[in-house]
Amino acid sequence: MATKKGIDFVVTKTGCFECISHISGRYPRFRVNGQKKTISRHVYEEMFGIIPNGLVIRHKCDNTKCINPEHLETGTMKENMQDMVVRNRSAKGSRSGKAVLSEHDVKVIKTMLLYGVPNKDIAICMSVGETTILQIKKNETWTHVPWPKKRKKRKSIYEVS
Ligand SMILES: [Zn+2]
Repeated sequence: MATKKGIDFVVTKTGCFECISHISGRYPRFRVNGQKKTISRHVYEEMFGIIPNGLVIRHKCDNTKCINPEHLETGTMKENMQDMVVRNRSAKGSRSGKAVLSEHDVKVIKTMLLYGVPNKDIAICMSVGETTILQIKKNETWTHVPWPKKRKKRKSIYEVS
């Protein structure tokens, strides 16, 4: 594998190449030609070629520090958001009933809406009714929480910090 000088990683039991040299954020990244880039994206491109505009790197192993090309795949932002829904859902487990939303929750909901995650999935993820999601979508509630700006397609989701 083509490795850039300075990238160091350990191999875990699960076969992940966990980056230990660039761990300042959720996703290990470095600068290439003056541009911030995630190492996972770099490694993937070295192995399989340039990633088309609008696609993001997803971790099949769920380990965001992993840079094993075998654990990486490309997907759309929408798929990425849906992964997040599934993860949140399992993380929240049996949390039941009508949740009280926080401003942060609403921001997450608005981001999901922006990227086309179905209302139903968002509702399950956030433990609220679909009506709640619909009201947010229609700007009937939570209007003081600003809608996030949709990023230009070329930018990677990992630029979010
Ligand atoms: Zn992995």
